[in-house]
Amino acid sequence: NSGTLSGLNSSENAVPADAKNLRVKLVLLGDSGVGKSCIVLRFVRGQFDATSKVTVGASFLSQTIALQDSTTVKFEIWDTAGQERYSALAPLYYRGAGVAVIVYDITSPESFKKAQYWVKELQKHGSPDIVMALVGNKADLHEKREVQTEDGMELAEKNGMFFIETSAKTADNINQLFEEIGKRLPRPAPSS
Ligand code: GDP
Repeated sequence: NSGTLSGLNSSENAVPADAKNLRVKLVLLGDSGVGKSCIVLRFVRGQFDATSKVTVGASFLSQTIALQDSTTVKFEIWDTAGQERYSALAPLYYRGAGVAVIVYDITSPESFKKAQYWVKELQKHGSPDIVMALVGNKADLHEKREVQTEDGMELAEKNGMFFIETSAKTADNINQLFEEIGKRLPRPAPSS
């Protein structure tokens, strides 16, 4: 679907707009079903829709937040459903991305394994200064947990990533995820 994908070029610029108003392309990675779309909808619209249908192809949403230091960050969020089909386009998907968020489902060891795969992919294709976050989603499903918090922490630590467990369903840690990413973005050098 070239119509959808042509938009990929529009947000190549990962360079902050200015010192107080940052703008960054954020790509979401992770197994299908881990809750990527729900995390984005929770963050952007404040909603959780358990029946939300997975979008076909690449979708794009943006959201601006204000940080405590009065910096604003505009996230241009890329979420591709079934992105394996687009693997030939991976370099295009990653290009210009200042942030990569790798999501797994704490009830699914397979999705955690897949997260490890995405870490390697990013190290191959991502820019060296990309801010990486590892997210264990569906933290509300305690009784079904199969991936321990420590395992997520360890993977993140080994790869210089920020780690957090979230629930798109209860909204737990969703805003925190984006705030913490915002804090870790490189600030432009003063221009004088
Ligand atoms: P994606 O394929 O990664 O984009 O996953 P979706 O966002 O489409 O979510 C897949 C399924 O997981 C849906 O049925 C959601 O309702 C469910 N889901 C997503 N996030 C959560 C969560 O935090 N908790 C629970 N219990 N279910 C979730």
